[in-house]
Amino acid sequence: MGIASDLPGDFTPSRYDVIVVGAGYAGAVCARMLAEGCNYRVAVLEKRGHIAGNAYDYEDEAGILVHKYGPHIYHTTDERVHQFLSRFTDFTDYQHKVLANVHGTLMPVPFNHQSLKLAFGEEKGERLYQKLVQAFGENRRVPILELRGRNDPELSEVADYVYENVFLHYTMKQWGKTPDQIDPAVMGRVPVFVGDDDRYFPQVPHQGMPDKGYTDLFEQMLNHDLIDVFLNCDARDLLVVEGTSVKVCDRPYGGEIIYTGALDELFHMDLGALPYRTLDMQFETLDQDQFQPVGTVNYTVSEDFTRITEFKNMTGQVVPGKTTIMREYSKPYEPGSGQTPYYVINEPDNIALYQKYRDRVANVLNFHVVGRLAEYRYYDMDGVVASALALSNEIINHR
Ligand code: FAD
Ligand code: UDP
Repeated sequence: MGIASDLPGDFTPSRYDVIVVGAGYAGAVCARMLAEGCNYRVAVLEKRGHIAGNAYDYEDEAGILVHKYGPHIYHTTDERVHQFLSRFTDFTDYQHKVLANVHGTLMPVPFNHQSLKLAFGEEKGERLYQKLVQAFGENRRVPILELRGRNDPELSEVADYVYENVFLHYTMKQWGKTPDQIDPAVMGRVPVFVGDDDRYFPQVPHQGMPDKGYTDLFEQMLNHDLIDVFLNCDARDLLVVEGTSVKVCDRPYGGEIIYTGALDELFHMDLGALPYRTLDMQFETLDQDQFQPVGTVNYTVSEDFTRITEFKNMTGQVVPGKTTIMREYSKPYEPGSGQTPYYVINEPDNIALYQKYRDRVANVLNFHVVGRLAEYRYYDMDGVVASALALSNEIINHR
């Protein structure tokens, strides 16, 4: 029905069939699906002062649309996700491009045909490229760790160059560890690309930006007669898990709960805190039209920050004489410090701790966990939407 800036004194949980904790993708998708699919009345509780979770965007003082929690670029190969989100927004045809600054030379990431020529010179670069094509085929994504495993002197030369100049230092800054020490799936997100496609998400059919921004997309998704959103409301102040049931506002709650926050926080970290990496994001508005040639430049061999994003390059917004950029500095997350837990650290000990929290809610009646925090997963937006659609369909079918 609307978005309220806080929870009213007369909030009555029993008026709602569903309580959703969190107004990011996970929560908003479930709220919309259950309102439409079951005619459920839904209360969405959000502890921040805004909707859209980490995808939130807003106009800064210079009138430039910026992403408060880091650059978000929509991309998916999942048709159902694309169809669902396209009900609430049109997408621009923005194709994200990233350049690595390697000792002053800007070369495409994922490292591709053109990067090879920039790194090794026209002739040798072409020879090495043909070698890669022979080894892997054209238009293939090759994880750096796989390339490093090949026992061929020329392929090793490419692998060593890319490892040292694209992955090693950036990964050390981002994770405090070398590429071999972290989850291979994280490294696999950014492969070497054997081809000419110079987009960050090569060969991904749907990519772009919501044409009026992410916050607007969420406003449309949450705009439904049966959905009430309450901002500045930390669900942990209302909701207590006791054995296999849940109390909300000190009374047993019989409806569905969709929980998209961190599970360790729900239990006041009594088994220990789940580790994350957080980011310091430093925004700067400059008196110039444009700062860099593409949306994001990764600083892969120098600087303390990992990357600089220039928002106008991604949104296509025209604001003459001004541009806003943002530098990202990664560091360990300190629980209880007010920092945002951005990146899960996918290591066996952490997964084991997460599983202990997860076991505690496994038998709680009508209690569902979904999203990057609640599932402790490194999710892109489309992955979270897919997970929330699957959960919602399960609830709808079960009804
Ligand atoms: P969130 O967006 O975190 O939403 C969870 C919400 O729950 C939050 O608003 C939080 O305040 C609220 N909440 C938590 N606990 C409580 C509580 N106790 N009470 C009430 N509310 C609570 N994905 C892409 O596809 N493309 C990108 O380019 C991209 N870039 C990214 C860049 C960065 C720097 C980061 C960190 C992530 C990026 N992502 C990107 C991933 C994307 O942000 C996530 O996949 C997505 O936002 C996750 O949605 P979610 O709903 O699970 O979590
Ligand atoms: N990475 C890197 N150099 C780059 C880009 C990525 O070393 O130029 C590594 C780094 O470890 C990073 C991971 O690949 O954390 C995944 O990169 P991605 O851009 O997907 O991360 P995100 O956008 O989620 O921060």
